[in-house]
Amino acid sequence: MNIGFIGLGRMGFSLARSLLKNQQRLTVFDLNADAAQKLEAEGAIVAKDVASLCQGCDLVFTMLPGPKQVKQVALGEGGVIQNLRPGAIYIDMSTIDVDTVDLLNEAFSSKGFVFGDAPVGRLAMHADRGESLFMLGIDEKQLSTIEPVLYKMGTTIHHCGKAGSGTRTKIINNMMVLCYCQINSEALVLAKSLGLDVSKTLDVLVNTTASNGQLKEKWPKKVLAGDLTPGFDLALGYKDISLASSAGAATQVALPVCDTAKNVFRMALAAGKAGQDTSCLTDFWAEANGIEKIRL
Ligand code: NAD
Repeated sequence: MNIGFIGLGRMGFSLARSLLKNQQRLTVFDLNADAAQKLEAEGAIVAKDVASLCQGCDLVFTMLPGPKQVKQVALGEGGVIQNLRPGAIYIDMSTIDVDTVDLLNEAFSSKGFVFGDAPVGRLAMHADRGESLFMLGIDEKQLSTIEPVLYKMGTTIHHCGKAGSGTRTKIINNMMVLCYCQINSEALVLAKSLGLDVSKTLDVLVNTTASNGQLKEKWPKKVLAGDLTPGFDLALGYKDISLASSAGAATQVALPVCDTAKNVFRMALAAGKAGQDTSCLTDFWAEANGIEKIRL
């Protein structure tokens, strides 16, 4: 099967690289030529644009920042839908909103293509190691084709239901993850202000039911180690918490913690934290409370 991969950023690059290691033929494209060239050095074919990539592939993945870029690449002029081979499969892995994924499903299905969504769980560092988790939404009949390909990029696949259910699951997953970013930050700032040795506090927290994956796996390697390079960029975090907030508004479900977290992300962006890892919220709250940055 000829596979194409569009979007080679923090996540897409690692996923495509894992796929390439386990796949004879992979064609890639990104607006950032450097990312594509790095994969070319490892054996990928670099397409000159989205159209030429799609014309040569039976299965195309996109891993783009958000709904705007996905709509443009999938449905816009020169995009995926205009150039896919008859009967080809298109899977979006980006984190996008419910309306956009439903729009894609309708547009691609009505033209006889197979459409699925497979947003990615776990951290960027897991993607680097080929250990991602996929929340797959696709017609059950396609599982035998798609799952072996996803297993080349990750270790865990959850079939969440029909197309669109992966995205819905991912929005809920990230709502929790991003609320934890705020809760972890508040907790650590309080620990510091109470005069505790934060490394000892952390040892306790990661071994009780207070723990969460962010605190356990990410915090010690990122903000608490002084590494603010984005595994998950604060701006993307704001996008995702906004997706959850909008989904709540659309279905008339009250999400008070989610909406507060959304405002916190907005405040941190306004304070100049764009481009930093989401764990930078701990620095943001340390600064807002006039206490020293917390480091292990
Ligand atoms: P990123 O910003 O690092 O990468 C996005 C890439 O898309 C960039 O290389 C950019 O050049 C490319 N791009 C943008 N517009 C394009 C276009 N029109 N044509 C071709 N390429 C284009 O983002 P990321 O961290 O890789 O995240 C990608 C998606 O995965 C987002 O939806 C994000 O929410 C989601 N996600 C991220 C993480 C994480 O931890 N970083 C984890 C799971 C899911």
